[in-house]
Amino acid sequence: MTKKAMQKNKVARGNKASKRRGTTTSRQAKKYVYFFGGGKADGNRDMKDVLGGKGSGLAEMTNAGVPVPPGFTISTAVCNAYYEQKGKIPQAIEREIDANLKKLEKTAAATLGSTDNPLLVSVRSGAKFSMPGMMDTILNLGLNDDAVEGLGRRTGNGRFAYDSYRRFIQMFGSVVLEIPKQVFEHELEAIKKKRGVTLDTQLDDSALRALVDRFKHVVRKRTGRAFPQKPAEQLTMARNAVFRSWMNPRAQEYRRIYDIPDHIGTAVNVQMMVFGNMGNSSGTGVGFTRNPASGAKEFYGEFLINAQGEDVVAGIRTPQPIAELEQAMPEAYKELRRITTTLEKHYRDVQDFEFTIQDGRLYMLQTRSGKRTGYAAVVIATDLVAERLIAPKDALLLVDPESLTQLLAPGFDPVQWETIPTMTTGLPASPGAASGYAVFSSAEAVEWSQRGKPVILVRRETVPDDIHGMFVSQGILTATGGMTSHAAVVGRQMGKPSIVGAGALEIDEDATLFKVGGRTVREGDSISFDGLSGEVKLGQIATQPSEILQVVSGQMKPSESDIYRRFDKLLSWADKVRRMGVRANADQPDQASIAYAFGARGIGLCRTEHMFFGEGRIPIVQRMILAENEADRRQALEELLPLQRADFYGVFKAMKGKPVTIRTIDPPLHEFLPKREDLLVEVSRLEIMGGRPTELDEKRRLLHRVEQLHEFNPMLGHRGVRLGITYPEITEMQTRAIVQAACQLSREGMKVIPEIMIPLVSDVKELRNQKAVVDRVAAETMKEAGVKIRYLVGTMIEVPRGAMTADKIAEDAEFFSFGTNDLTQMTFGFSRDDIGKFLGTYLREKILEKDPFTSVDVEGVGAIVRIGVELGRRTRPDLKIGICGEHGGDTASIHFFESVGLDYVSASPYRIPIARLAAARATLAVRVGD
Ligand code: ADP
Ligand code: MG
Ligand code: MG
Repeated sequence: MTKKAMQKNKVARGNKASKRRGTTTSRQAKKYVYFFGGGKADGNRDMKDVLGGKGSGLAEMTNAGVPVPPGFTISTAVCNAYYEQKGKIPQAIEREIDANLKKLEKTAAATLGSTDNPLLVSVRSGAKFSMPGMMDTILNLGLNDDAVEGLGRRTGNGRFAYDSYRRFIQMFGSVVLEIPKQVFEHELEAIKKKRGVTLDTQLDDSALRALVDRFKHVVRKRTGRAFPQKPAEQLTMARNAVFRSWMNPRAQEYRRIYDIPDHIGTAVNVQMMVFGNMGNSSGTGVGFTRNPASGAKEFYGEFLINAQGEDVVAGIRTPQPIAELEQAMPEAYKELRRITTTLEKHYRDVQDFEFTIQDGRLYMLQTRSGKRTGYAAVVIATDLVAERLIAPKDALLLVDPESLTQLLAPGFDPVQWETIPTMTTGLPASPGAASGYAVFSSAEAVEWSQRGKPVILVRRETVPDDIHGMFVSQGILTATGGMTSHAAVVGRQMGKPSIVGAGALEIDEDATLFKVGGRTVREGDSISFDGLSGEVKLGQIATQPSEILQVVSGQMKPSESDIYRRFDKLLSWADKVRRMGVRANADQPDQASIAYAFGARGIGLCRTEHMFFGEGRIPIVQRMILAENEADRRQALEELLPLQRADFYGVFKAMKGKPVTIRTIDPPLHEFLPKREDLLVEVSRLEIMGGRPTELDEKRRLLHRVEQLHEFNPMLGHRGVRLGITYPEITEMQTRAIVQAACQLSREGMKVIPEIMIPLVSDVKELRNQKAVVDRVAAETMKEAGVKIRYLVGTMIEVPRGAMTADKIAEDAEFFSFGTNDLTQMTFGFSRDDIGKFLGTYLREKILEKDPFTSVDVEGVGAIVRIGVELGRRTRPDLKIGICGEHGGDTASIHFFESVGLDYVSASPYRIPIARLAAARATLAVRVGD
């Protein structure tokens, strides 16, 4: 779009918005207080920033003609002013509040502080984002010793008047005067006991009068002064207390967890009271327009007769299911159904609402988008499209991509799960429920599972050659490592439930036990854990795979699973919207098939070395490494060739001709050899025991080679392209295997275009060196096969120098793929395997906002990615660029990759659905410019 067109667009949007808002223009003095009532409101649904969610909902409902008690909203800007001026509010704003109060008194035909016709109000907090239970609300404000009598006379209901007064003192006392809640509850209990009743509602007029006296006495004793009697003073105090509650510790903690900034502040809503506690034709309740757990289209909620405000959620009395309201108050129920259905249509999303019925008349007190589980989100989004309430692309915005993991995870029997206490908690690395016998080595895991016993692999940390053990386990539990540690990455890739970094576990792998919280768990003891919450428990709990997985793996037909069909439909809408491609990080044919079934259309990263850990291969790989001359090395490679060729053939085939990027060998060679410490022990054992001399010799030779290969800093050592340059015969063998497999498929009629990717390149000359090897061997191989295929040679951009010289590298590279794991590691200088030691502190101290290995650091690493893209495309405008780090499956990172114009993201197979949805949402967001 041209700049002019963009400006025009902006103006058009601006006009539309201000037309909807109606009143304010920039020339008017700034407005701080917004009235609602009498069928008209100053604000509307688009003003959550100014009015908070509650205030904007009250305004919108008022404008829509919904019965809402009148009132006014003091804007979030006033909250900030309150903090800036150290607890004071500018005079001009005080006057604006007074003017609105006068207007409210007129609309309500009652006066704050009047004895015979008192106006009572609630003072309600409400920020832009709902923070359930974090801030405070006060009801029945305006009552005092005189007004309570007036209210009683006017309503002819002394019991109700005193019930309202005692509630007011109770709330004002705890929220504003900061007297502990229990003190009031204690008094309430005492009086109930004295009167021999169990429910608040059974307290009569005289009991409530006595209770009010007790409460007032408590206030005097605790604060040294009488309960404030002037309503104007009550209002100012309550308003300020709401502002103060914005900064209370639990609200701050909540905002930290949900990434809500402190500076947005809360609004305060002052609203005329309506009373659900006036007797048996009154009541109060809460509800959802659909079931927030299952998504089912059913009216869902609870209510209480003769009750006020929080009573329903407070758990003092057991509320009734909302369906029973139909019998209790048919008129009000019908009206409630009508209004909430309208609200759902109006907001085009499930609403979570609050209402009060006063003497048979219904009032709405709140409406907002209802929070829901991942499962419900998918059901609701697809239903709303089917009902033509929203368009498919709007449905994409109703499902948080991350919440899809809940649909893929196997589940525990929830009832049984709740009955067992939590033993310890670690980082929830890969979701799902896992149950099995604890084992402490991969060898044991394999052995036990061969005997048909489900196991959980418990390790201090996992290493690449644990793959086989991990593969056969129900779940993986480690004591160290972060969200991108080996166990976590592989766990997610395999779709295995995993918990990592459970630091409280004291694991003794030799003694095959761990201790935690004074308890010892030995090999063969049953444990269970939930990879979504990170909780570990003792004992075996039954699990089952998710329906979606059963369909994807062919155990169930799509027609048998309603949730699968919805999931599939939602993702097909995402595919229509998204610009970026979605590929998979998969190393083996079975992983590739799963990825394809989940919707990946290509492989962005096939790590060839993972194939070396396959059955019976390690000895050959070791022989290659141990070879002392090129001839011996070539011989071992000869043996690996057919194995790799078969792997590539399988992967190409599983991807049905879609592009497959294969990375040449990357890790340092010592990873394929036994640990030095283990070998030392073994050698001395053989020396003492006098085992077979050949065995001893072999171990000594191995030890010698391991010592030779030892590096001080293996991640910066002899690995990546450096291996291919020093041992070109490895690149040759891998190229031959790739090209042979592609030729074979070509003969079978499937066209594949392999993309050969050279890792860890920092200078174009490195790439040039390897490209020459690849081109030479590919030409030879095609000639031998008598088949011609197309292939590409490209590189990973994962060393900062590679990105900074990307224009040169692009002269030889036919594609780029950002390796953001290494790039993050080298940009920060943080080892991804050691970050766990200080990450916690960094997050607490707010030095880092997120783990940069989980969500891409846009500011630093992102800047380097931007440069790499720009330089690369300067040389080759049509350069294909992807990302294959762990970040390829992270929602926030995907938004960033969309904004820099990458062609695709590549994620582990089980995160493919998340990446598809996130990529579509990123396209929508970037299009509207945020
Ligand atoms: P929260 O944000 O914690 O839900 P609210 O401000 O919504 O707090 O209020 C708490 C309770 O008091 C709710 O049940 C609400 O419906 C009720 N309430 C608030 N204002 C009024 C009012 N003016 N009349 C009757 N009930 C009210
Ligand atoms: Mg509420
Ligand atoms: Mg790398």
